[in-house]
Amino acid sequence: MHKPMDLMRDITESDPKIAELIQKELGRIREGVELIPSENFVSKAVLQAMGSVFTNKYSEGYPQKRYYGGQEFVDIMEDLAIERAKKLFGCEHVNVQPYSGSPANMAVFFALLNPGDHYMGLDLVAGGHLTHGSPVNFSGRLFNVHPYTVDKKTHLLDMDSIRKQAKETNPKMILTGLTAYPRKIDFKEFQEICDEVGAYHFSDISHISGLCATGVHESPVPFADVVTTTTHKTLRGPRGAIIMCKKEDRYKNKYHPEGKKDLASLIDFNVFPGIQGGPHDHVNAAKAVAFEEALQPNFKEYAKQIVKNAKALADELMKLGVSLVTNGTDNHLMVIDLSKKNLTGKGKEIQMVLDAANIHTNKNTIPFEPGSPFNPSGIRLGTPAVTTRGMKESEMKVIAKGIATVVDHYQDAQRIAKIKTEIKELCRGFPLYPGLGILQ
Ligand SMILES: *Cc1c(COP(=O)(O)O)cnc(C)c1O
Repeated sequence: MHKPMDLMRDITESDPKIAELIQKELGRIREGVELIPSENFVSKAVLQAMGSVFTNKYSEGYPQKRYYGGQEFVDIMEDLAIERAKKLFGCEHVNVQPYSGSPANMAVFFALLNPGDHYMGLDLVAGGHLTHGSPVNFSGRLFNVHPYTVDKKTHLLDMDSIRKQAKETNPKMILTGLTAYPRKIDFKEFQEICDEVGAYHFSDISHISGLCATGVHESPVPFADVVTTTTHKTLRGPRGAIIMCKKEDRYKNKYHPEGKKDLASLIDFNVFPGIQGGPHDHVNAAKAVAFEEALQPNFKEYAKQIVKNAKALADELMKLGVSLVTNGTDNHLMVIDLSKKNLTGKGKEIQMVLDAANIHTNKNTIPFEPGSPFNPSGIRLGTPAVTTRGMKESEMKVIAKGIATVVDHYQDAQRIAKIKTEIKELCRGFPLYPGLGILQ
């Protein structure tokens, strides 16, 4: 006789190998400082929504327009996610279904451009994302990118030369946004340039959306045609993304005379069925939870503290003789320039030694990288996760000292071990997920 599978077995019993890895990962994040700027620690409520039975549901389509039955609760949940995202960012229209940042961007490319069309995006080594035109990514393989970059000397975006380039190349779209640019972006001026050359403004605020939603960084949402963001970075939600846009397609007659009636339906159509099938309802429920959290007044305090902590970390690092790209930061991240310490191409090695000291970062290119993408000369740091943990300016000083010591003595195993002990001690004062077991 067929015996039904026991759904209620604990993972520690049914799959001890994976359970052990989850437990070890929990230990790792508890004992180290997480400085990868694209990472964060979500709330227990977000974890619970992600680990919920919504994972079982199929809901291709949109609320009230689905291809499967049984949507009475999914529809309410997705409508709530939409309503909350609109309130949080003040957008006219939002699609909450993208699986992650890259597919969200892909849907926007397919909505606005045809394969082969010209656009401008920030060069990867200058701080842009893979999906902003890298030759190995769909954005560089299917579409024609004219990358813009930063100034050779200051490593800042030079709006005059970007304007000049836009006038010369006449792009159909200009993509703004960053993954490793440590300064504010003047989205308004980018909008003016788009208006001047008749280009769509597509802004990808994945890294800074928590800052944009709270007014800590200017938001492009009020004016850009389309804005995407991941939900798992400064926004502190589950892994995923959303696409916000204007209802109206202001270049409809110019670029899409026969297409969808407006920009909102064009975007929705390109997410589903354009790129994706069924939405991840469990993740979308967790997005709704995260948006509600971000609407609370204390999230604004959190966003402000991220930036204060980044400034404190940057100032202390520079005081200790560590050079930073653009000599500091205005947002949540910074990039160490190892070439100034005669450590060109040593990013990978320094990242590994920092890991050994329980300081988690990622190697990164610096503008006009003298090394290579796999052996770059930068280390990228950010403060969203440590700020979630409750750390403030004084803790940033301790962390800066640890980093500076590693950079100056990366071959000195004894010193590295000492820093590891100090970092573990620091972390003990900021318990992470206290009492959390393997299951929420
Ligand atoms: C992280 C990021 C993405 C991609 O997100 P994934 O969820 O990793 O696919 C896209 N754009 C920018 C600017 C990002 O920082």
